[in-house]
Amino acid sequence: MQIDALKILFAQSGLKFTNQRYLVYKAMVEARDHPSAETVWRRVRESAPAISLDTVYRTLASLEARGLVTRVPGGAEESRFDGDASPHHHLVCLQCGGIEDFVMLGAGLADLPPEVAAWGRVRDAQVLVRGVCRRCLGL
Ligand SMILES: [Zn+2]
Ligand SMILES: [Zn+2]
Repeated sequence: MQIDALKILFAQSGLKFTNQRYLVYKAMVEARDHPSAETVWRRVRESAPAISLDTVYRTLASLEARGLVTRVPGGAEESRFDGDASPHHHLVCLQCGGIEDFVMLGAGLADLPPEVAAWGRVRDAQVLVRGVCRRCLGL
């Protein structure tokens, strides 16, 4: 991801561009495994050894508040984060904690029933499928 494009994105989101924010967001965009804050911290520390776990938590929260990162409601106590802002859904394994993406037509914002629109302002919607993955089932 280009730094200049990111600076514009942060500015549009009302976020000050800092090196730590950049590194956390970059780690999120590159991640495909929906990492926990602690996993993001371990990855970011490789290029910024001084960054604290608390900073990573706060950075993820501010990115989440602006819709740049989403929190995947998995089921484990540990929050997991997603840097892919494109509309997609999640498969969550309750055994290994693995989270995978899937795309489903007819499950987007446009497909929500009218009572949802009447409820308030919707930012995003996703389908969460929970169960046990093939690997854990030994298939
Ligand atoms: Zn599994
Ligand atoms: Zn995802």
